[in-house]
Amino acid sequence: MTAADTIAIVEKLIAFDTVSRNSNLQLIAAAREMLSAAGANLRFTYDPKGTKANLFATFGPQTGGGLVLSGHTDVVPVDGQEWTSDPFTAEVRGDRLYGRGAADMKGFLGVLLALAPQIAKLDLRRPVHFAFSFDEEVGCTGVRHLLSDLQNAKIRPALAIIGEPTEMRVVSGHKSGAVIETAVRGREGHSSAPALGASAVMMAGEFVALLTKYQEELASIRDDFFDPPYTTLQANVISGGTAVNVLARDARVTWEYRALPDRDPAEILSVVEQEANAAIVARYRGGAPEAAFNTQVLAAYPGLAHNAESPAVKLACAVAGSNRTYAVSYGTEAGLFQRSGIPAVICGPGSILQAHKADEFILLQQLDQCAAFLERLIAEWNDESVLLQ
Ligand SMILES: [Zn+2]
Repeated sequence: MTAADTIAIVEKLIAFDTVSRNSNLQLIAAAREMLSAAGANLRFTYDPKGTKANLFATFGPQTGGGLVLSGHTDVVPVDGQEWTSDPFTAEVRGDRLYGRGAADMKGFLGVLLALAPQIAKLDLRRPVHFAFSFDEEVGCTGVRHLLSDLQNAKIRPALAIIGEPTEMRVVSGHKSGAVIETAVRGREGHSSAPALGASAVMMAGEFVALLTKYQEELASIRDDFFDPPYTTLQANVISGGTAVNVLARDARVTWEYRALPDRDPAEILSVVEQEANAAIVARYRGGAPEAAFNTQVLAAYPGLAHNAESPAVKLACAVAGSNRTYAVSYGTEAGLFQRSGIPAVICGPGSILQAHKADEFILLQQLDQCAAFLERLIAEWNDESVLLQ
């Protein structure tokens, strides 16, 4: 049976409306209270405006080589979603707990906070850290402040487990990704004389066709660890133009790539930019010398590269009793931990299928399974005989 205190803490966390556009300071203050009562040592880092915070808590010795248990505090909006109950008032119905963030990822944070008093009582030989971040859902921007603070303070954890919803499977790889906006410039004119201007909407259409063609090329480079097993390019927002008989001066295409971790994202961008300017712009320059594509990366996160020798993979697999790991196609903070020199895996309660949706829920059983996993993980971590280093 799920511990009543775990459910109570998850309910409390869900009640803070930490949609990424809002402050998370109230949630952080509540976590601070619980963690300092348990005797953890706390560090905070903030966004430039000081309205959002990351929290980094340490149990045990203040040395390097710690185990980081990490999760984000922000959630995605509920706008336009049809919920059966108030998304910010958690509700247990049957074997499920409903609420925004139940799976992604306040369930995991609640399990951690409920375990804090127990962890504090252990005679820890090596540190156990909690890392709570902001703004994960809008490009993993918050955790970057936390990671650079650790680097500046020369705190060098040995590994990290990111508790994103994987139904407690060990995930050791994900693609890198970026949100990109391409502004298309044409020239206004009467649509009866297209050669005397340039329709930015027609140019944008050719640009999308270029993405489709390049996507087909990229699909020939495969890595079957991933699903789909290749780099994807998708345009899903497009706008531009004013009237059907006016050549459009401006258009805008928002697109993304999700690349295999060993692909160089800079190459994807430069191929698309070069092709657009060479093949498309060349044809429109006659009517509009200013015709151009201007591309800007709005957000990007690195991939998580699988490494069978990673201490994070070894420890998580040993504790989970699993001899294989998985890959996911969504982005997480794990790639940023890995890039800053901290081996990381993803393993957390709940299913990604419930994340970001109306009536998001987590099975209570997943919370129990997560608590049991973390108890074993920390015991193993603290056991001298553990095969790490
Ligand atoms: Zn998440």
